[in-house]
Amino acid sequence: MLTMFCSKSAKNNDELISQLKERREIKSDKIEKVMRLVDRGDFAKDDLYEDCPQYIGYGATISAPNIHAFAIEHLEDVLKEGNKVLDVGSGSGYLSTCFAYLVGKSGQVIGIDHIKELVDWSYSNVSKNHSALLKSKRIQFIISDGREGYAENGPYQAIHVGAAAKKTPQKLLDQLAPGGKLLIPVYSLSNPGTQTLEQIEKSEDGQIFRTKLTGVRFVPLTEKEVQWNDD
Ligand code: SAH
Repeated sequence: MLTMFCSKSAKNNDELISQLKERREIKSDKIEKVMRLVDRGDFAKDDLYEDCPQYIGYGATISAPNIHAFAIEHLEDVLKEGNKVLDVGSGSGYLSTCFAYLVGKSGQVIGIDHIKELVDWSYSNVSKNHSALLKSKRIQFIISDGREGYAENGPYQAIHVGAAAKKTPQKLLDQLAPGGKLLIPVYSLSNPGTQTLEQIEKSEDGQIFRTKLTGVRFVPLTEKEVQWNDD
């Protein structure tokens, strides 16, 4: 079960990762290593090392560290060297950066967000300590409606959606490679106040298999104007 409350703040990234490990929210050495390498402090605005979602402006939040760990864990088997990843609703850029290290030099990550200011900010966040990932274009951030995906670069072995949808966009399913995996928070039809993180797998022959993972709370996958109106 994911932690929905905030635990005591850590004093730095290493202490935060050690706490997540102690609570078994990080289980693999690979995830521990990447989350130690990508300092949350570069991607959040306040209470940098609290295991809690934090507001990042424009109606968006950076997810709690335990949710980031959970997402990486469930995509880990498709985050192999050379694979392509689409991170829809890339927000702070934190997960795109972790994904980029996991897919290695020959891999590629496309982060999409529809708020230009957040895309600019995520670019500057990654620049602080991981600028080589931007220079080599291992990570590219795109300003666009994530529900359309980014077919130019697909198909993707891993698709992560960081905002909650009423229904999984068909274009994202189409851009998922055979053998690929997609994670998306979906609103419950019977109780629209609740969301479930769904894992969608595409078999080699194109069949779709869905698994409900856990209850979550994400901002909506919506129109830009609905999320943020700067008038
Ligand atoms: N994984 C990110 C989550 C950011 S919150 C992080 O931890 O930092 C969700 C993001 O989805 C927001 O940045 C929001 O701007 C974006 N979003 C919502 N609807 C979208 C859409 N239709 N297209 C692209 N991005 C969208």
